[in-house]
This record gives sequence, C-alpha cells and structure tokens, in this order.
Amino acid sequence: MSKRKTIIVGNWKLHKNISEAVELATAIKNVLGGLGHLEAGVAPTFVALSSVAKRLEGSRLILAAQNCYQEDQGAFTGEVSPPLLADVGCTHVIVGHSERRQFFGETDEIVNRKVHAVLHHGMTPITCIGEQLSEREAGQTFAVVERQLTGGLRQVAADQACSIVIAYEPVWAIGTGKVATTAQAQEVHGFLRGKLTELYGQEVAQAIRIQYGGSVKPDNISGLMAQPDIDGALVGGASLKADSFVAILKNSG
Ligand code: PEP
Repeated sequence: MSKRKTIIVGNWKLHKNISEAVELATAIKNVLGGLGHLEAGVAPTFVALSSVAKRLEGSRLILAAQNCYQEDQGAFTGEVSPPLLADVGCTHVIVGHSERRQFFGETDEIVNRKVHAVLHHGMTPITCIGEQLSEREAGQTFAVVERQLTGGLRQVAADQACSIVIAYEPVWAIGTGKVATTAQAQEVHGFLRGKLTELYGQEVAQAIRIQYGGSVKPDNISGLMAQPDIDGALVGGASLKADSFVAILKNSG
C-alpha cells in the first residue's frame, strides 16, 4: 500500500492584511526545511496572494486560494477565476468549504464545476465535504458525505482524481473547539476511502489524500494523524498564528 504524503493547509479565511499575511507566511516558510515528511500550505485572502507568492518564491510552502469561480473569464463582476489563480502562483484551491455552501449557496453541482475548472488549469482542488450537526444527529452522516463526494467528483476521471485532495470537515467541528474524536473522524475517512475505491478502484483510492478539518490544534493533531485514513488537515483558527500552525506541522508525524 502506498504511503500518502501528509498535507496540512492553513485556511486564513477573511483574516490578515497584506503585511500580516506576508509575515505569517514567512514565519512558516522558515521552519519548513526541517519538515520534509510533509506538504504544508497557506490559503490567504485573494488580495494577499500576490505578495505572499513573491515571498514564497523558491519555497515549497504551497500557495492555495480559498475559492474560485468556475468560468475562466467574462462578465462575472467580483469573481476570481482559476487561470488568474494559477497566474498568481497558486497550485491548490479550496472548493466547497462549508462556509461557501452555508453563506453563498454553493451546491454540489457548483462545487463539481469548480473542481473541473481547477483541474483544467493544472491545480489541485481541496474539495471540502462534511455533515451538519443536525444531519449527524439524524444518522445521515454517511449519506450526506457520499452525496457531496460523488456530486463533487462527478465526471472526474481516475487519472485526475489521484491528485485531488478531499477535506472531510464536519460542520459542527469547524471553529467550535469541538474536534471530532479520532474514532469519529476515522470512521468517516474509512467510509470515504471505500467510496473512492468503488468509484476509482483500489490503486487510485489509496493515492487520494483525505484531510480532516474542524478545530485541529497542536494537541490533537497527532491522534488524528495516527488514524490510517487521515492524511493531513485543513486548519482554520489555529493556522492564524505561526506558533500554533508550526506546532501542528511538527506534531503531525
Ligand atoms: C476550516 O475553516 O476549514 C476549519 C477547519 O476551521 P477551524 O480549524 O477553525 O475549525
């Protein structure tokens, strides 16, 4: 079985002005040399991408965008397209984050279009899925994540699927301090690996990395990373300070 390389990405959401973003990226970049076992990335706001990209030149710290539009160009006021993100230096784009689904009405169909658009421009979509608390309490977790997974990956071919990153983020654990237990997280990750195997076969499913997201902190990352189907983390709040994000990277394995 292939050992998947850990991938940990900080989602800075709507935080940090340009100079703060460059400062934080610099602090993370400076420790990355000693962390060869993993891939690490940061997702600043759109307006900070260019400055952070310049600071990261020659570094292996991944530059990710937090979102994109699904069209390349046109009369779409206020949107940012995948080719522009590739042009500024992004290699990864977060798509379908629960905040996009919740506050901006993104459906599985829109997420799927974004996944295709990102892949088309040679970048990696970090495709977020996860159930709400009411859905978990109603016993619908597996049905919800299966629908989001298959909907998000519709008509994505196996050779493209290998490079995709899935982020399982139970919505009730995002920004709440309520991390899923390692058993709860592994149960869903194992389920998703099984679904990926049905969709793409064993070899591809074993190559796809599935991050966990939801209140990841320096003191809970190692338990999560010890699970067989957890391949990294998407980190919100704890990625906003260099100390805590670097501690997460260091404690990840
Ligand atoms: C997120 O926004 O993707 C996230 C996981 O946030 P937090 O780590 O703050 O729960």
